[in-house]
This record gives sequence, C-alpha cells and structure tokens, in this order.
Amino acid sequence: MNARLHASGSYVLLIKLSDPTEIQVGALGKLELQRGWLFYVGSAFGAGGIAGRLKHHLQPSRRPRWHIDYVRLHAPLMGVWFANGQRNLEHQWAATLRGHAALSEPMQGFGASDCRCHTHLFFASLKCHSEDIVNVLQSRRTSCAVDFLSPDQLHL
Ligand SMILES: [Zn+2]
Repeated sequence: MNARLHASGSYVLLIKLSDPTEIQVGALGKLELQRGWLFYVGSAFGAGGIAGRLKHHLQPSRRPRWHIDYVRLHAPLMGVWFANGQRNLEHQWAATLRGHAALSEPMQGFGASDCRCHTHLFFASLKCHSEDIVNVLQSRRTSCAVDFLSPDQLHL
C-alpha cells in the first residue's frame, strides 16, 4: 500500500474505452465516445484520503452519485495519477489538461457542477505515456509531486 494514498490530495483517473460507447450521464445527457482513453480529474479531502475515494472508483456503483460513476459502469479503471497536499489542484489540472494538444473535451459540465471549469473529463484516441501526463500535471505553477499507479499497484 502506498502510504501517500492515505493522505488528502488531487487525482486523475485513467479509464479505457475498448469500444465506441454511448453513456447516459444522469440528467447531464448522453455521452458518445469513440474507443480510446478518458481522463477524469477529482480530489479527495475526506477522512479516507485518496485511498477512500479510489475504493469508490474501483468498485462501480449501481447507484451513481457522481457523473464519473455512470462511466465506470461501462469502462475499466486503468490507473491513477495523484499528488498529495492540502491545496486542491483539481480545477487547475482541468485547466492544464484543457490546453493539452492530445486531449479533447467530450462533454461540457462533466464533473464540474460545482465549479467554473468547462469539464473535468478529457478524451484521447491514442494512449498517452504516463510520464507525459506526469510532466503536464507537475507544471511549475502547481509545484507538486505527481505519481502514477496502475490498479494492481493500488492494494487498497
Ligand atoms: Zn473544476
């Protein structure tokens, strides 16, 4: 178990779409996706830390609470980037990923009901190297240390 997962912080989920997929995301609408990769930005500042939130994301809920829960019923979690710290980086990361040339925004407002971001969900048709995403998230502005873990490295 990675001790840093017990602490609070911000994270980006990596989700694989093996086939073109159409997902009804609650009241937000229908999300139509080609095969590829999804990136979802979130943060965990509750008692269980990042680990507590990842347990939720690893086990798709049949009673979706967040927009991402609808997606997880259709597609597997393939990894997570995360950074510890009391500062919530999720909105800054959403803005950073928005500027990444390889990423597009498949649905406006996704995961962004309570903030001013366009979306917290991003799509790439080709697999990104995890180190490239680490470098993007570890920008000089955020000055954080980002790690990537695959599901078999989580041991929650
Ligand atoms: Zn936001």
